[in-house]
Amino acid sequence: MENCIFCKIANGEIPAATLYEDENFRVILDLGPASKGHALILPKSHAANIYELSDEMAAKAMILAKKMATAMTAALKCDGFNIVQNNGECAGQTVFHFHMHLIPRYKGDQVGI
Ligand code: 5GP
Ligand code: ZN
Repeated sequence: MENCIFCKIANGEIPAATLYEDENFRVILDLGPASKGHALILPKSHAANIYELSDEMAAKAMILAKKMATAMTAALKCDGFNIVQNNGECAGQTVFHFHMHLIPRYKGDQVGI
């Protein structure tokens, strides 16, 4: 989709700090992290939100979220983990290309989600 920043990042047209990539997804560090290691799962194909995402991609995204949370918890030694996904402006969505937030949590942190 034209003029979608996350389409461009996911497909490598705009560089981003990439933690993982496969044929369907790119996982990048968030530009404004809520905590150390805050990352985003971006599908390479455009869907504005969860309603537009295919069941197949939704299943793959959740499996990847589980893998990333497991690997990041081991690497960062965080104490907990939030997986967050916003749909619609009133729900906090600011970029209208489906994405999942991977937010490592640390005892005593002050992350507001
Ligand atoms: P939302 O509020 O839509 O759920 O989340 C959008 C997230 O994307 C925010 O956490 C914001 O910091 C992040 N973000 C926005 N633009 C960029 C960008 O150009 N690069 C990266 N890496 N993150 C971005
Ligand atoms: Zn897009």
